[in-house]
Amino acid sequence: MTIKNYLKNASNEKWALGHFNFSEIEAIRAIVETAADLKTPIFVGTSEGERKHVGVKEAAALVKAFREEFGIPLWLNADHTKTFEGVKEAVDAGYDAILADFSALPFEENLRLTKQSVEYAKSKNSEIIVEGELGYVRGDSKLQKVIEIKSEDLTKPEEAARFVAETGVDMLAPAVGNIHGIVTESKEKIDAARIADIKKAVGENIYLVLHGGSGLSEADFKSAIEAGISMVHINTEIRIAFTEALKKSLAESPDETTPYKILDPTVVAMEEVIGKKLKIFGSINKI
Ligand SMILES: [Zn+2]
Repeated sequence: MTIKNYLKNASNEKWALGHFNFSEIEAIRAIVETAADLKTPIFVGTSEGERKHVGVKEAAALVKAFREEFGIPLWLNADHTKTFEGVKEAVDAGYDAILADFSALPFEENLRLTKQSVEYAKSKNSEIIVEGELGYVRGDSKLQKVIEIKSEDLTKPEEAARFVAETGVDMLAPAVGNIHGIVTESKEKIDAARIADIKKAVGENIYLVLHGGSGLSEADFKSAIEAGISMVHINTEIRIAFTEALKKSLAESPDETTPYKILDPTVVAMEEVIGKKLKIFGSINKI
């Protein structure tokens, strides 16, 4: 089955594919082992910063090796790629999906560069999936106190319809009250009615992606998926699980100098977070 087959099933059956970021082998191992255990199709992603750390070609080679070893539907996404050069590099390296994110630019400029990205990606790989982003999802993949969302940040359904029709994207990341990272002193409010309106405007063959899933409740995810979300991104929560486990490991074994022994507990900690999310997303036993 192709990525699109899975997206179609997810959309029709009201579940979502999980997308988790990695920048070191512990995270990708935790993601793939958990997905294999739970028999769930899975996306791994690297942001521009994460890609710089792992290497673009190295990330593609790692995913290929994990896919062969575990035999599950596993795909690699170039998360938040903010230049056309970056899109080209990831497509050429063999990424399975690209998020061409020009959402910081004015609408027409976003549309033009996203369209150019889709044309390049599909000319090199007819199976590749391209996601565009429209609206402004604030925040970074870390803990933050308060983030104020403005009404002009939110994606407008009629603009979304025009954007997907003219760019040719397969997936769209809307701004629907979500933020990147976790806020500790304010509360995120997901606008499920807006998700449903956008889904209706873009049509059943365009799949909606919820970014900034970290920090959201089970009820938030369920209402977002019910309203039309087919993929959820989680990064901050596994970053925190990794860092906390690493600090604990170093504190408990101050004389340990073997890197893999120091790092092993981080895999267990991330697996726990990933497993819980996949159960909420409803993608288990969907292979
Ligand atoms: Zn994101």
